[in-house]
Amino acid sequence: MRTGLWLSGVVALVIASVLTAQERPGSPRPDVRSARSGAVLDEIRGSDIAAHVHFLADDLLEGRAPSTRGGDLAAKYLAAQLALLGYNPGAADGTFFQQVPVVETLVDPAFTLTVGAGAPFRYLEDVVAGSGIQQPQVRVAGDVVFVGHGIVAPEYNWNDYAGVDMKGKIALVMVNDPPATGGEPQLFGGPALTYYGRWTYKFEEAARQGAAGAILIHTDESATYPWQVVQSGFSGTQYAIPAVNGAPRLSLAAWVTDRAAREIATRGGQDLDALRAAAVTRGFKAVLLGVQASASITQTVAQRTSPNVIGVLRGTNESEAVIYTAHYDHLGVRELKPGESPDVDRISNGATDNATGLAGVLEVAQSLARARTRPNRSMYVLFTTAEESGLLGAAYFADHPVLPAAAWVANINIDSLNMAGPSRDIVLLGAERSTVGALAAQLAAETDRVVGPDPEPGRGYFFRSDHFPLAKIGIPAVSVGEPIDFIGSDPAASKQFWGEYNAKRYHQVEDEVLPSWNYDGAVNDMRFLAELGWRIANLAVKPAYHPTEQFARPRAGTN
Ligand SMILES: [Zn+2]
Repeated sequence: MRTGLWLSGVVALVIASVLTAQERPGSPRPDVRSARSGAVLDEIRGSDIAAHVHFLADDLLEGRAPSTRGGDLAAKYLAAQLALLGYNPGAADGTFFQQVPVVETLVDPAFTLTVGAGAPFRYLEDVVAGSGIQQPQVRVAGDVVFVGHGIVAPEYNWNDYAGVDMKGKIALVMVNDPPATGGEPQLFGGPALTYYGRWTYKFEEAARQGAAGAILIHTDESATYPWQVVQSGFSGTQYAIPAVNGAPRLSLAAWVTDRAAREIATRGGQDLDALRAAAVTRGFKAVLLGVQASASITQTVAQRTSPNVIGVLRGTNESEAVIYTAHYDHLGVRELKPGESPDVDRISNGATDNATGLAGVLEVAQSLARARTRPNRSMYVLFTTAEESGLLGAAYFADHPVLPAAAWVANINIDSLNMAGPSRDIVLLGAERSTVGALAAQLAAETDRVVGPDPEPGRGYFFRSDHFPLAKIGIPAVSVGEPIDFIGSDPAASKQFWGEYNAKRYHQVEDEVLPSWNYDGAVNDMRFLAELGWRIANLAVKPAYHPTEQFARPRAGTN
């Protein structure tokens, strides 16, 4: 079935390129790559990527936070670039901008979390917190309940909230999902992280349970990133979708350090290690700690909008489309820490994350626009806002998808390019979930590459960028991940480069444009993804999720 589908696409492409040659007698013989495909892959260049990134990651853009001058400048730049490439406005109102309503909140850093009689936990050092209640003043107090992983998963016969009434209480929650066992190697996806392990799920489930608050326990190991990432990500201005009447919301949504969590357990008459050990087995019962937590959240609340940028290269069949996504927002300018010099660099430039992705998608867009023929299906580019705040721009797009949800045949998401040097593998998160995987594997075989599996499925990257909301409405989606099989002059150095990025620069002010960047891997990857998207746009048969995949469900009943 997959082979047949693939061959029909190749035949269509061959016919298309023959027609092109006939239409333009006397035009120079196209190079091998552009003869084989419509996308002109030589249009994707490292120098172009560098040019875009140097602008988008400049200090003048102040970290591109949503609904700030710097964020808006980035959006305007991207729209201008798409217009220059010949893309049409893709938003429903005929512009390049789909306005996304967001609620902006800023918690007063004088916030403390009081638990029992001991000293309160201090903001940033011990705890970061926000509120789902979009009001200037929120008070919360309740008994603390240790709920293990805080998961309700009927398919795994798992319920951490069984037999406990959470109304008015505050959940103390472990991140990640329970480990698989010898008897159940596929429990919670085995070594892979399921959505149940993500922090967003923990807050959502605690709210569904009627809890007044939830406190997540950070450990570097379980989160796969250090406390500084939580600090920088969850302090300062935060963004959320406007509250919907009647939808459950947490008054307190907090993270604490491992040390603070141990202290909370101790004040509640328990030992955190013992609680954790109990929580990895089915049948674990939530434990009511003998202690109350309370907090008062003072915050500024503002209703704003921030645009998604949408452009389209129209196909001959405009009712279906392939969509490339990359988020343009980043973390903005962080607050001054107590005692810090005002001269210190506080701008999160987001050079890798995701100025490189934006540049990569612009280069892909250029290679598609320079094709000698129009693609069959339309090619869309979506630059999202508020990804760092919980994929808000992509979620809004998934609710307001411009074309019907079933019209989107595939999504290719790019969140951070590989600047470490060329690799044999191109990691496409989610490739194994749909027929896009087989198409990518075929292309890889032709180009002496391989589609690598997710090297770290335990990190849950599939749930961590903008393709995820699109996957949730049934769009077959892949997202570029970190490679591991480097083929440059010094593969070990390339690997070390990624390690340092994750440890020291990811979501920190140190994520800047580096002179040591090697653009060759990024260029190879973008050429690959331009070709992949072009082929998908011209396939006779639409890609589809494998039937066992949970994301296949939204499409059941559609064509
Ligand atoms: Zn990102």
